[in-house]
Amino acid sequence: MDIKNCSRLIVVSHLLPTVCRFRGKLLKSSAVSISSYEQYLAEKEERYKNTEINKCYNSKWEFTHRQSHSAMNSGIQVLKQELGADKVIHLGLPGDLETVEGQKISWNELNENTEMKESLISELYSELKQIPILIEPDTLHDYYNGYCKSVLWPLFHYILQNYTSGRKENEYWEAYKLVNQIFTKKIVEIYQPGDLVWFQDYHFFVAPSLLREAIPTCTIGLFLHTPFPTSEIFRSLSKKKDVLKGILGCNLVGFQTYSYCRHFVSNCTRILGLESTPRGVEYNGSVTAVEIFPIGIDVENLQKELTTSSILKKIASFKERYAGKKIIIGSDKLDMSKGVECKLKAYQKFLRLYPEWQNKVVLIQITSARADDDSNNTLQSEISELVARINGEFGTIEHQPLLYYQNMLDRVDYYALLSVADVALITSLRDGMNTMSYDYIVCQKDKHCPLVLSEFTGVAGSLSDALMINPWDQTGIAHSIYEALTMPKEEQIIKYKQLYKIVSSQTVQSWAKSFVTELLRNSHSYDPSVPIPLLERETIKEKYVNAKKRLIFFDYDGTLTPICKTPAAAVPSIEMLAALRTLTYDPKNVVFIISGRDQAFLDKHLGHIRNLGMSAEHGFLIKYPGGVWINLESDTDLSWKKDVEEIFNFYTERTQGSFVEQKKCAITWHYRLADPDYGTFQAKECQNHIESSVLSKYPIEILHGKKCLEVRPITVNKGEIVRQLIGAHPDCEFVLCAGDDRTDEDMFKALDESYIARENIFTTIVGPPSKKSISQWRVSEPKDLIDIMEVLAQCSSN
Ligand SMILES: [Mg+2]
Repeated sequence: MDIKNCSRLIVVSHLLPTVCRFRGKLLKSSAVSISSYEQYLAEKEERYKNTEINKCYNSKWEFTHRQSHSAMNSGIQVLKQELGADKVIHLGLPGDLETVEGQKISWNELNENTEMKESLISELYSELKQIPILIEPDTLHDYYNGYCKSVLWPLFHYILQNYTSGRKENEYWEAYKLVNQIFTKKIVEIYQPGDLVWFQDYHFFVAPSLLREAIPTCTIGLFLHTPFPTSEIFRSLSKKKDVLKGILGCNLVGFQTYSYCRHFVSNCTRILGLESTPRGVEYNGSVTAVEIFPIGIDVENLQKELTTSSILKKIASFKERYAGKKIIIGSDKLDMSKGVECKLKAYQKFLRLYPEWQNKVVLIQITSARADDDSNNTLQSEISELVARINGEFGTIEHQPLLYYQNMLDRVDYYALLSVADVALITSLRDGMNTMSYDYIVCQKDKHCPLVLSEFTGVAGSLSDALMINPWDQTGIAHSIYEALTMPKEEQIIKYKQLYKIVSSQTVQSWAKSFVTELLRNSHSYDPSVPIPLLERETIKEKYVNAKKRLIFFDYDGTLTPICKTPAAAVPSIEMLAALRTLTYDPKNVVFIISGRDQAFLDKHLGHIRNLGMSAEHGFLIKYPGGVWINLESDTDLSWKKDVEEIFNFYTERTQGSFVEQKKCAITWHYRLADPDYGTFQAKECQNHIESSVLSKYPIEILHGKKCLEVRPITVNKGEIVRQLIGAHPDCEFVLCAGDDRTDEDMFKALDESYIARENIFTTIVGPPSKKSISQWRVSEPKDLIDIMEVLAQCSSN
């Protein structure tokens, strides 16, 4: 599948990859005057070397590349080169706006100044094909700082919140939904058939299903840059079902590692009770594919940058400054999940355990906080205290063992430090990916020094040649630091080569291309065909009234009653029994229940309805109205049942919650009460076992039904019974036949092939719009079918 086949790609991320500065001045009256370009040019030259995008000074806005999210943005850049810049449209928030002189532009100033606002929108689109989504500040705060950053982000990094009343969280959720709606509305506005829509990250969990609703055939993807937590953690989110259902609007969901994929799939099966395979989740009859796309960095670009004179100069100066010392480097964002405290404590432990290193090593730790985030003040002060303690304990007049910087380094310093370091130390408690490890490996192309890496980072699965540590084990980390500092050069080189191989192959380029390729491949998972229409009361009523002879066939489970946890719990409702009784009283009607159930169950619950015909076990047994049970296959060989039962028992003993149901001609293994993942797994094993050992010896088949396996002879199915009954009533002028699963399709097929005129046949599937069936009509749930039965019963009793 070539990505060039894609007509347009709409990328949606919470921030646009562009920083926008207004080239005019803000006046008190909020009128604007464009500043002198000569003066502006002179200042700008220094400030934004190499980063400016638009050189056209007739524009009112100056655009430069945003520094954050660089991996994702370079991935998108690659797609622009592949597809053509005009075919990639990017939607996102514009971020903080300011003038070129650094004055902040407020929401009100932007809104009151139509010229400024409109020029922002038109210039971003005409120059960069970017569309800014403007959200008023209160909603934006509740959406971003609220739901994204203080509800989803901590939970997805395994940080559980204290118990609260949930009021704030509900407000945040409303804002989160609203922003997702605003984005969706914009996408719908610009959408053209054939477009692919790619959402980035946890900021857009609701939008995929909103978009699916608005444009059912749209091809939608989502890539999650953070971890996805296990169901034991995720289930504590109060909006868990809405979040999962929102995501399931996608054709494809991508994750960083296999374990995040696995967690997502198991959340869908455990929380929503959906059917799944490791490759995807089935929802409303469509499959959302789930795959791994490890994101990397732009290796080529970084390698180029490393040869620039500014970085080379910096490297030389660092080498001189730290001559005779080994450098350990750490660079993290300031938040709980990065484990900076663990790192410093482990370093302290290392200096205590290996005193010979006290004057020979320096840990340079850079920790940057987001400018708009003051939620980590406590953490900041705890870290500062720890730094002072360590330097107090091990520092001397000449040597300070721990250098701590609280600001974001500029790129030159950062890459130069990674290049001169002797060890990189990453102790994240939970990390979606961790790009620093990749940056470090590329920067170490001449030194080949080791990487000490937390096993809880998203990259740990790929970088198996790093020294793996558990961030909670301080002594373990201390030993690993020692091991890294004393590792023989040959071993360093061998490990480095392996690491480099991974980093240079898992690049942002390959990430972006493979996601879009897969998305294209999955673009048909939502069937564009027209859904089966809902059964119209008036139509069926008219045909019913005019017919002199009518055949009415109902499946039982899932058709007349909802699917229950245990088969015995599916008892008929009073309304259903009343409607059924009235229908059978009408002499023009022949009414049959055609079920997979055994005769004992049908007799117990429906046997008292005098004129009702019944067929049990998918057509093996039949009882005509007022008659007795007849075994249609009395000479069938049932000797296979013993073999199958033995295998079923073997799996029952090993699968908590499963049980065997004996029928006259069939035998069923139910695992509805078992752990969903394990039950499905065991069912597959069991099916293989039976297929390989029993199936070939007898004329039997195995059916994988809803949370059950059934083995039965192949000679008869529900379709045969229907054929027989139509044959027995050649004067029939009306048929209603309702069912909900694969075995019922045999009935629909038999009717399709019958002599009765199509407009007089009402084959009806019970299920959601996306359910696949050859039936002509549909109702959503058993309750709706009973409503129709009541309407018809009304006609009969009049
Ligand atoms: Mg059924």
